[in-house]
Amino acid sequence: MASRAVDGRQATAGDRLFTRVGAFLSAHRLSPEPAHYAFAYAVIAQPDGLIARRVAELTDGGVRLTARDIEQLGGTALGGAPAALADDAEMTADAATQEAMIERVLHQLDGFGDTVRIAHAEANDFGRDLARSAAEMRDVGAGAGVEEISRLTAAMIERVQHAEAKLESTRRETEELRAALDEARGSARTDPLTELPNRRAFDEAFAALAPGALVIVAMCDIDHFKRINDSFGHPVGDRVIRTVARTLADEGGCLVARYGGEEFAMLFEGVTPDEAAARIDRVRAHIGERRLRVRETGEPIGTVSFSAGVTAGAASEGRAALVARADAALYRAKEQGRARTIVA
Ligand code: GH3
Ligand code: MG
Ligand code: MG
Repeated sequence: MASRAVDGRQATAGDRLFTRVGAFLSAHRLSPEPAHYAFAYAVIAQPDGLIARRVAELTDGGVRLTARDIEQLGGTALGGAPAALADDAEMTADAATQEAMIERVLHQLDGFGDTVRIAHAEANDFGRDLARSAAEMRDVGAGAGVEEISRLTAAMIERVQHAEAKLESTRRETEELRAALDEARGSARTDPLTELPNRRAFDEAFAALAPGALVIVAMCDIDHFKRINDSFGHPVGDRVIRTVARTLADEGGCLVARYGGEEFAMLFEGVTPDEAAARIDRVRAHIGERRLRVRETGEPIGTVSFSAGVTAGAASEGRAALVARADAALYRAKEQGRARTIVA
């Protein structure tokens, strides 16, 4: 392969690698910091590696890598990165679990590929052996002893059984792979504490709306939650979050997602803002009626309440605008004494 001269000498493999890493950084508008360089190097130096293959998938069709892509592939995204990262900063623990799962699936995928390749090779071998056995049978012909024919038949049966076992294990592996993928897909969109959809699922549900759809977005935040944590401990706080989450989800009649620590986002369709607010108030009343106690000691936790902000708009306004408006209304509800719902 022709190589360009560098500084009057012939370009070495190292020079070429360096040039290609540089081209990669420039194509993805990445500064040549060591972390970026290391990432680009991993992609270029190991074109068949896991990272390079994932990058190829992600950038198929000329799409530029985002900071998030790089982080998810185990690289470090530095300053000047797209804003997506800041938005997701609080989800890093979740993201780490999801990435571990996806990593596992990708490994399985590799293993699965090997199994298929082996099965395929064996099927080829088997076909060849079959042809050979048939030829041998023909050759020994009428004069063949029963022993010879039964030896050949037994060999063939053994090969068929072997191929069947291989296929069965491949089928089982496919099933496991599918289950792991489903799990990864689901867990990437489910909040592990409450089992509600998470922020990503909410954002995706919003993005899937028709632009003209009229929706209500509500943001709910548990009141004085820090006090619950401080008085009874984090695990009790977690249980309170779960109780509020379950009640909102059971009685809200809409999509309810855990949006942050003790904050929930709701997406209603086909109701007026006042109807949505009334439903939220009913949920608050039901939670307020519960005599929540610390499971271990029986100590009363006191009344748990939350504040909510509600806003209506067209999906075309965008999720960020509606969430910001609902958040502003939630803030006013807090200011006005909490345990209430304000419609923006
Ligand atoms: P306000 O009425 O103004 O909302 O007061 P607050 O105390 O609820 O608000 P603040 O935002 O000060 O406190 C929220 C607390 O929620 C802080 C954080 O430690 C806690 N928190 C966030 N996520 C979790 C979680 O998953 N479990 C538990 N137990 N606590 C959490
Ligand atoms: Mg809060
Ligand atoms: Mg709060």
